[in-house]
Amino acid sequence: MSDPRLPESMRAAVYEAPGRIRIEDRPLPLPRGDEVLIEVEHCGICGTDLHLFLDGLGRPGTIGGHEYAGTIAAIGGGILGWTPGDRVVAGPRASCGACASCRDGRPVLCDTRPDVTGEGFQGGFAEYVRVHDSQLRRVPDGLDLRTAALAEPLAVALHAVTRSRARPGQRALVCGAGPLGLLVVAALRDAGVAEVVVSEPRETRRRRALDVGATRGCEPGALASPPMPFDIVPEPFHVAIECSGHKSAMETALGQLARGGTLVLVGTGGEPPRFDHYRILLNELVVTGAFNYDADGFERALELLASGRLPTASLIEPGHAGLTDLLPSMYRLAAGELTAKVMIDPREPHR
Ligand SMILES: [Zn+2]
Ligand SMILES: [Zn+2]
Repeated sequence: MSDPRLPESMRAAVYEAPGRIRIEDRPLPLPRGDEVLIEVEHCGICGTDLHLFLDGLGRPGTIGGHEYAGTIAAIGGGILGWTPGDRVVAGPRASCGACASCRDGRPVLCDTRPDVTGEGFQGGFAEYVRVHDSQLRRVPDGLDLRTAALAEPLAVALHAVTRSRARPGQRALVCGAGPLGLLVVAALRDAGVAEVVVSEPRETRRRRALDVGATRGCEPGALASPPMPFDIVPEPFHVAIECSGHKSAMETALGQLARGGTLVLVGTGGEPPRFDHYRILLNELVVTGAFNYDADGFERALELLASGRLPTASLIEPGHAGLTDLLPSMYRLAAGELTAKVMIDPREPHR
């Protein structure tokens, strides 16, 4: 495959060391066999990217970014159903379909899932990215690619809501109103959850949470702490979804649950929480994780984004950012100065 319309190299933001990213020219990753080359138009910055790039969990030499949308630039031989120019986002590779988890409809727990550390991953903070064709999801007509790049984090939010088993009319607590927390708020409200309270220390983030559908915002310290393990707070929640990754938020969230309530851990952080096992035991609480997506997560996310039911303008930071803005944006996200999803356009400013 050598297409004269394609460049030989591409610009990419390459991780070097904690807080160090170099903009490099890399050879174009040409698609082979069942692979496709995508020209990236927008790639969102994920909390995971902050852990990789700022906290140093990344592997030097890698390109981050897994929340991207773009157009197909080239396809390997033997691929049917796709043509250059098609608008796509990339999801996970098809799982084995045969193991117990896959048969149970939970492909994210597949025995053959790739290493969760993302060994060998090359992402969308580059002008082009190469993916396996089983990862491709078509962007619905009428949905712009900047909004479509929310599909991956929205699929994460939808999975958290699935794991919470929240039902219409219930009360939910969301801890942390960063980009993921905001998407969880919007997804809960779209699912008919009557009351969504957001616990978040920063005022700007609490206000943004109200914009995307939260019914109330509060400071984490304002949440009552029940004195004894069998005590329930005066206004308990059926469901709490922890998006901040902070130990104290995880611990506080558990104390806010009604009897039989569910705490879902989605935010990642370094310090492990300490949970009162008597509280879990006496009130039959469920503490669970949400990792990645439902089996149909990307399809549902794209459909929801295309439906116009979500307040997408408030879920994405305004303005254009290129690869050189990546690191400053990460610092501003980590400091809580930016609230919603930051979209990087790797082609800026070299259009
Ligand atoms: Zn993500
Ligand atoms: Zn499997």
